[in-house]
Amino acid sequence: MPSTPPLDLDAVHHSLADWFGVRGRDLPWRRPECTPWGVMVSEFMLQQTPVVRVLPVWEEWMNRWPRPTDLAAEPAGEAVRAWGRLGYPRRALRLAEAARQIAEDHDGQVPSTYAELLALPGVGSYTAAAISCFAFGIPETVVDTNIRRVHARLISGRALPEPSHTAAEARLAADLMPRVDQDNGQLACIWNAAVMELGALVCTARSPQCADCPVSASCAWVAAGRPAPHYVPKGQPWEGTDRQVRGAMMAVLRLSDEPVAAGTLLGAEDTDAATNEATVGLVTALQRLRDLPAGPEQRQRCLDGLMADGLAVDSGRGIVLPH
Ligand code: SF4
Repeated sequence: MPSTPPLDLDAVHHSLADWFGVRGRDLPWRRPECTPWGVMVSEFMLQQTPVVRVLPVWEEWMNRWPRPTDLAAEPAGEAVRAWGRLGYPRRALRLAEAARQIAEDHDGQVPSTYAELLALPGVGSYTAAAISCFAFGIPETVVDTNIRRVHARLISGRALPEPSHTAAEARLAADLMPRVDQDNGQLACIWNAAVMELGALVCTARSPQCADCPVSASCAWVAAGRPAPHYVPKGQPWEGTDRQVRGAMMAVLRLSDEPVAAGTLLGAEDTDAATNEATVGLVTALQRLRDLPAGPEQRQRCLDGLMADGLAVDSGRGIVLPH
């Protein structure tokens, strides 16, 4: 087995930055004219959701709410409705709350520092670092799933990173950052974006394209003969889960202009009666919800969960999106 080549970190930084300059996707939130708010909205949407699904929803959001104050002026339910089918709709609720906080505490401007960003609803350590870096050019260390996978292969010689983010990985990510003293962190911010992009396009989870990789000559995993993963990753089941039922209930609420009877969401009432004037989309959503193989107990648990999370509210006339 060939031995791991000594790592010339400086060369790796520049190879990847050059590759990113040519191969990095032209995404609207990466363009110079994109506002910090546009970057922030993209970061919320991209957590758990692929770029291709985010793009049209992001465009719609930015046309409708080009500034945080525009979103802050609307009921949170509108954010949840416009979230569409991106999944994990609590992100929409948190983004609406964050917009309100930005309007009230930051004069309507997205704050730039990691600490201020971290204090906003829905912003964790990854999102705070990403917004700081990609919107303001502050060279925070950004670590997402794609970056963790590239680091695991390129540096640690393993097919996969540990199942959950470890302190050792965080230290490694910080150690790998380009120095910031010569260019005010420009290369460091490009590095964050470039490693992330490499993980999304080339060093993918299922089929890494090592022949097309700009840093394959330095890759510890390739040098080690591409060993198998040291554990079997758990898949995320969908069929029959509460997530599936909650998603189907949210689709009905998003598409309905009127309050929806709790019994309709729970599958206990005849949906035909509730859909006389409904749109085709709503009829389909109701049908999907009704056809799920979920029993009354699971449906009740899911509806209770949506209400506890603030994603659905009892208006007195039926269930609606939050105000
Ligand atoms: S050579 Fe292959 S495994 Fe190594 S970083 Fe590139 S794509 Fe990933």
